[in-house]
Amino acid sequence: MLKIDYVLCRPGVMDNYSYILTDTATGISAIIDPSEVTPIIKKCEELDIKPQYILNTHHHFDHTDGNIELSQKYNAQIVCNEADKHRIEGATIFIKDGEEFALGESKAKIIDVSGHTQGHILYYFAKDKALFTGDTLFNLCIGGLFEGTAKQMFESLTKIKSLPDDTLFYPGHEYTFHAANFAYHYNQANENIIKYLTKAKSNLATTGHVFPFTLGEEKLCNPYLQATTLEEFTHL
Ligand code: ZN
Ligand code: FE
Repeated sequence: MLKIDYVLCRPGVMDNYSYILTDTATGISAIIDPSEVTPIIKKCEELDIKPQYILNTHHHFDHTDGNIELSQKYNAQIVCNEADKHRIEGATIFIKDGEEFALGESKAKIIDVSGHTQGHILYYFAKDKALFTGDTLFNLCIGGLFEGTAKQMFESLTKIKSLPDDTLFYPGHEYTFHAANFAYHYNQANENIIKYLTKAKSNLATTGHVFPFTLGEEKLCNPYLQATTLEEFTHL
């Protein structure tokens, strides 16, 4: 089983989520996208764990800034897409689309979702129904096109939509309430958005964070997932 903890980094500025994963069968753990060192060390101490891996979804600094310091402190290996080999310093394990990464007994399928960057990847733990989406999919919105084309992003989102509806996704930033306005005005007849926002606010009040929503819920409300053709998508 996969235990998922999180750290909100750069609060009020970029609101990055770094996740700390522990395979409960073996105790092996990993940090996904370490945005900041200090709050992550604090959380690892609280949890009494020493992560063996650092998993990156893409090369942007707000997802990799803690890589070197944390890898030295914990003697952790940095894992990234082969495509990012030359731009993620210190990485030693390279993976690519379709491969599997084993965190102890928890297995993640690697899915290339180029668009936000070339070679952005997702970590999909099918058995645990957990998908770590980095800067590709956020609650009610998606990441900007820094390197890829709209066509690539549309194809990447199509891959995400093909995963089971009950998959829970864990985004790289907390942008829900920024995105809500556009999602609401995009389709005011969509009553699901009201339900979505009620749940988001209740999650925030009870757990301190909005995630996780299911892909099924996201498909009903995220305008970028509702576009069924590339043409529709590019006109959003
Ligand atoms: Zn990014
Ligand atoms: Fe980011």
